[in-house]
Amino acid sequence: MENIDWGNLSFGYMKTDCNVRSYFRDGQWSEPQVSTSEMIDLHMAATCLHYGQESFEGLKAFTGKDGKIRIFRMRENALRMQSSCRGIMMAELPVEIFEKCVVEAVKQNSRFVPPYGSGASLYIRPLLIGTSAQVGVKPANEYLFLVFVTPVGPYFKEGFKTTPVGIFREYDRAAPLGTGTYKVGGNYAASLIAGNKAHEKGYSAVLYLDAKEKKYVDECGPANFFGIKNNTYITPASTSILQSITNKSLMQLAKDMGMKVEQRQVPIEELATFEEAGMCGTAAVISPIQRVDDVNENKSYVFSKDGKAGEVSTKLYNKLKAIQCGDEPDVYGWVTLVE
Ligand SMILES: *Cc1c(COP(=O)(O)O)cnc(C)c1O
Repeated sequence: MENIDWGNLSFGYMKTDCNVRSYFRDGQWSEPQVSTSEMIDLHMAATCLHYGQESFEGLKAFTGKDGKIRIFRMRENALRMQSSCRGIMMAELPVEIFEKCVVEAVKQNSRFVPPYGSGASLYIRPLLIGTSAQVGVKPANEYLFLVFVTPVGPYFKEGFKTTPVGIFREYDRAAPLGTGTYKVGGNYAASLIAGNKAHEKGYSAVLYLDAKEKKYVDECGPANFFGIKNNTYITPASTSILQSITNKSLMQLAKDMGMKVEQRQVPIEELATFEEAGMCGTAAVISPIQRVDDVNENKSYVFSKDGKAGEVSTKLYNKLKAIQCGDEPDVYGWVTLVE
């Protein structure tokens, strides 16, 4: 590939050779079609524009030492997108079409998959939108599923480091019985003000509390929260959290490492007892938390005094990354090799 500086890529959009699309019309999904256009021809009354019929996914492909391309937990993403489809009444995309489009998009753009050891990866973005015209509030009867890819740089350019996060009690991301459990754009629109405020104040993300009682730890911006204490991995159970596939993977690896795993309500005061805390998601795998500031209450919970990540977080991080690029055996069948 001509002159991509793999080590200095950001988490942004870079044009690649093509994307892959499938259309839902007359009750049927079309065979995947390769498109070289970055544009979508869309009706101005499409439901995705007016009523938020939109869901997306995020996953990654890596090059292994053996030169083979590996996609991480693609099937989980396909199943989660089906759940999002049910959640906002979009036509449910078959797992096979999701997987076909993802594999094809990676294959067709294989020259954009960063080399082994660069720390960079190929970010895969599946998108599903309601496309047919509707003025009354009703689900569309036509949909577009598309997958584009873009190379992204290593998340931690200056090493695996902690950052502070803030609680801003005047904002909620999602309602307890709302759409928080689905990966839909509306949740992101709802989080932009709080996220922007947090960034202005020097925080890397917002730690949301449960919207109803403001007593329990919920989602951490676009990532799941976890804490470590007494050889136990603890992550919040809630009806407004999007189940992170990274979190699910870390729970398994924590068990394999002989730790206890608890998914339950986490009262805010419990933060004071955690030895380590982190956010997890596809972008960073783990982003360790330096401290949580409960901004309105003027309280802080500190997990790292020297800015370094904790021992358990580091171990989990290295283990998951090793599986993703094939340095460690894939005992759970998480990896799809692209031939
Ligand atoms: C995508 C996402 C995550 C992380 O999920 P992964 O499957 O680990 O990438 C966490 N929270 C929200 C709100 C998300 O949209």
